[in-house]
Amino acid sequence: MVLSSAIGSIVFRDEGQRVLAAQGVRIDYASCVLLSLIFFIWLIERFFPADAGSNGHLFSPEPGGLRRDLVFLFFITQFSALLIAFATRWLTPALASQGFGFDLPHLWPGHAPFGLKVALAFFVAEFFSYWFHRAAHRIPLLWQFHSTHHLITQLNGLKALRTHPVDNVLFFVVRTVPLMLVGAGVDEVVTATTFGAVLGVLAHANVNVSERGLGWVVNLPGYHALHHSPELEQSNSNFGCHTIVWDRIFGTFKPSSPVKLAVGVHPVGTRSIWRELVAPFYRKVS
Ligand SMILES: [Zn+2]
Repeated sequence: MVLSSAIGSIVFRDEGQRVLAAQGVRIDYASCVLLSLIFFIWLIERFFPADAGSNGHLFSPEPGGLRRDLVFLFFITQFSALLIAFATRWLTPALASQGFGFDLPHLWPGHAPFGLKVALAFFVAEFFSYWFHRAAHRIPLLWQFHSTHHLITQLNGLKALRTHPVDNVLFFVVRTVPLMLVGAGVDEVVTATTFGAVLGVLAHANVNVSERGLGWVVNLPGYHALHHSPELEQSNSNFGCHTIVWDRIFGTFKPSSPVKLAVGVHPVGTRSIWRELVAPFYRKVS
């Protein structure tokens, strides 16, 4: 369902944008599809949770729960988006002055069917993000900021947004610049990014998804739960953000655990929002 809706957003993108414009809605069609799908995943979590205890509750006294997820959704993620817009504004002319950028064909098969270009953009971005993610777990300076995402102690769709803005910007640059260097089209990059964002939410979702078929390609919740384990031999696996293909190729794939795993970093437990957002700038994190 999620996949077919996302593919629908690719096929009917132009028509969808026209319909929204005719209604006076100024939101981008791809963003509309993304928010709808996030809401759809959230509904499944409410009614068919894999683990009823992992859905956040608004009135729970637990400090790392739903209330903090909403702070990230409405404030921290918006701040990250501003930083990313700033980075894009700086990157675009810098690369253009060197003869690179979106829609400047170098190696990119600009005349290929749109769906094929979206798939290519998706797997290229995932290839670079896979290696960057491995580096973020090995290089202390990168772990300072990536660790924020691993402090969560429950998995559900909204937890996909619990990332440090610096980590967000670094992943964005790593995923986007290679595509600009080969002259990928901005339309396919936006569509592939939207599609990937949906899969990112799905990877964290508190739902049971069959791993037959899809599990060869998509990073499903069971795989990603292993990556969020506090045990290093488990978390040093399944580094793909949205696809598991590169883990399968480079030998870091591990199948889902048959038993429920702990989530977090040792010692497992909720940290303050100060630790999540400010401490990485001045204090070495473990
Ligand atoms: Zn990680």
